[in-house]
Amino acid sequence: MQNTDYVPIAALNQYSYCPHRFWRMFCAGEFVDNQYTIEGTTLHDCIHTLGEGNREDVWQVRAVWLKSEKYKLIGKSDLIEAENGEFFPVEYKRGKKGKWDNDELQVCAQTLCLEEMTGKTINTGYIYYAESHQRQPVEISTDLRNQAIATISDVLKLWESGIVPLAIYSPRCRGCSLFSQCLPLANERVNKYREEVCSHRLCHGYTD
Ligand code: SF4
Repeated sequence: MQNTDYVPIAALNQYSYCPHRFWRMFCAGEFVDNQYTIEGTTLHDCIHTLGEGNREDVWQVRAVWLKSEKYKLIGKSDLIEAENGEFFPVEYKRGKKGKWDNDELQVCAQTLCLEEMTGKTINTGYIYYAESHQRQPVEISTDLRNQAIATISDVLKLWESGIVPLAIYSPRCRGCSLFSQCLPLANERVNKYREEVCSHRLCHGYTD
């Protein structure tokens, strides 16, 4: 993040997945492609071409910039649909629905922007999973809204603090493109070793 005026919508997704991954991507500027990110990027390259059209009675517009002054958010939409005066954000993802809810958070953040831009309340968004060709509805519940707003605040606090969040090994690391740079298991061993050395020194009365 070059400045902290606006939080990129995609940053919420990454922070929710892993704060250390968010820090590497948005603060340290690191990004490494793996099979999943290449497929995801290709998909987004196809989608992020400005255009509009209709699918039966549904008006569709792609690659529109979304912004919220209230929540200090900014980002590009994959697709916005409108039907009978109602708007719906649609986020495209490679693969199929995973175990984590970070994609829902991203749709909710797009909704917050779209509500501010259109003056309309939006209760539903969608995630389209390219591999399974499934369109998953996302209920924009009060809980999800609160979670998105809290995450925006956490992202800003972390950015302003300058603190690097710890890399903590979890099942999410297996699909992470930063795994070989981050080495979370090695970090865990180093931290454990440091703790053991400190407690040994304290037990034996060393002070420096
Ligand atoms: S490897 Fe794990 S700890 Fe490291 S950035 Fe990825 S998800 Fe986070």
